[in-house]
Amino acid sequence: MTDNRIRSIAIVGGGTAGWMTASALSKVLGRDYAKITLIESDAIGTVGVGEATIPQINIFNRMLGIDENDFVRRTKGSFKLGIQFVDWGRKGHTYFHPFGKYGVDMEGVSFHAYWQRLYQSGLAPWIDEYSIQAKAAECGKFMRPIDAGNSPLSQISYAFHFDAGLYALFLREYAEAAGVVRHEGKITRIVQHGENGFVEAVELEDGSRIEADLFIDCSGFHGLLIEGALQSGYVDWSRYLPANRAMAVPCAGKEDITPYTRSTARDAGWQWRIPLQHRIGNGYVYCSDFTSDEAVYDTLLANLDGEPLAEPRIIKFTTGHRKKYWVKNCVAIGLASGFMEPLESTSIWMIQSGIARLLSNFPDRSFNPVDIERYNRVITTETEEIRDFLILHYKATERSDTPFWNYCRTMEIPERLAEKIAVFENSGRCFRENEELFNDTSWFAVMTGQLMKPRTFDPVAQLLSLEETQSRLKQIQTAVTNSADYMPKHRDFIRDNCAA
Ligand code: FAD
Repeated sequence: MTDNRIRSIAIVGGGTAGWMTASALSKVLGRDYAKITLIESDAIGTVGVGEATIPQINIFNRMLGIDENDFVRRTKGSFKLGIQFVDWGRKGHTYFHPFGKYGVDMEGVSFHAYWQRLYQSGLAPWIDEYSIQAKAAECGKFMRPIDAGNSPLSQISYAFHFDAGLYALFLREYAEAAGVVRHEGKITRIVQHGENGFVEAVELEDGSRIEADLFIDCSGFHGLLIEGALQSGYVDWSRYLPANRAMAVPCAGKEDITPYTRSTARDAGWQWRIPLQHRIGNGYVYCSDFTSDEAVYDTLLANLDGEPLAEPRIIKFTTGHRKKYWVKNCVAIGLASGFMEPLESTSIWMIQSGIARLLSNFPDRSFNPVDIERYNRVITTETEEIRDFLILHYKATERSDTPFWNYCRTMEIPERLAEKIAVFENSGRCFRENEELFNDTSWFAVMTGQLMKPRTFDPVAQLLSLEETQSRLKQIQTAVTNSADYMPKHRDFIRDNCAA
């Protein structure tokens, strides 16, 4: 049999997507399988935002064999236990979307069901009391999970905030050490085969030409190859996720580094607050049909914790995704593949997922269309599932105080989401479908937090008597409170383990 394997891979773009892809491919394929080249343009630069993650990034770091303390130190990062949502369901109301689970399931029935039963009768406090993440976040505490049996301390689930620019540099070092060759320069032309339209080479301003068997388009919003050359097309989700701009600005930090991202609903969108060791990242994500850049500027600057460290800058986008993520011999990863807005920090996860699925469908030079079709189908489904979870935050609100929130509250939503909402409104049940990214805890946290009220509770929550349920929930609440008390302050944990 002839050796038809991919011999050369060109990664176009050196942002988070490009360097994550380069690191992972070099780790998994090793030095000898294929030559890996990454092309990036210093003049064009990177989008430079993208600082909050979800716990799945730990899988990526472990796969690379990265030392976590070193990674946090080098990216001036901090730890994240979830997201605090302010003013979303109603002005003046705050809730927490924690990583990890609430309480423990009992007699095969979800904790959510028991809590719902008690809460509806006024016999249980708010759900956050049963989450170690939410409780620790409230107290500004953090530690990694320890082996402590059934204790909530064994169940701490976390992700990171980090400086996106430093993260790309960190991974660049890793990938270059593993044999990836970096080529700096601006691509000015994409050369396609006359016969089949496959990408043959990219040509740079300096006249150099880089050929490859497989191209990975990590060129950011441009989609230089996937759209510019291969014209994949774009599925526009603006009607569901109307934000189309973000204004971002870093500001001086505080001594206390909060172990969570904050998302505050604003008149025409929402504002993020992401604490790092050396600064706080801030940005207002908004829809320009409902407000002006000037109004956003004023709101953003009026709501910073410290002095701004740069002039605010605007990033424009259209929510949605490429019709095909993989066309011929080109796979788009990162912003080149689409963008759904940063509300639940899912973009870096989508990069990770794209890389993992590319590796599990890794082509040879015949580029089997069945593999490509499968890749496109799976990523499309994954993206749609995340989209629905994001829409929920906008749709499930009591807010009617601005035209933006009126639009969101009354907009049409995808059928699958409408069904999930109908199920919750009836019995308080939440479920994870297939292998969707967000599990039942996440759906429950956001539905409950956005003040959706079920008509009744799950009937199986009557398996335990009311008294027994109250007693067990009390025990869980006490264990969570004691565990949070035991944990060190987040800032002390960083100081002792991974200070920059
Ligand atoms: P980019 O960073 O734009 O990199 C593109 C690369 O392509 C650059 O190196 C550039 O030089 C190169 N390039 C482009 N054109 C050419 C050319 N002609 N020649 C040579 N090189 C070229 N994600 C999260 O997970 N969490 C978050 O909290 C989060 N917040 C976000 C907030 C906002 C406002 C936005 C817009 C995004 C956010 N994201 C977030 C998404 C995250 O920023 C991106 O997924 C991530 O940075 C990956 O970007 P990228 O590498 O695809 O693109």
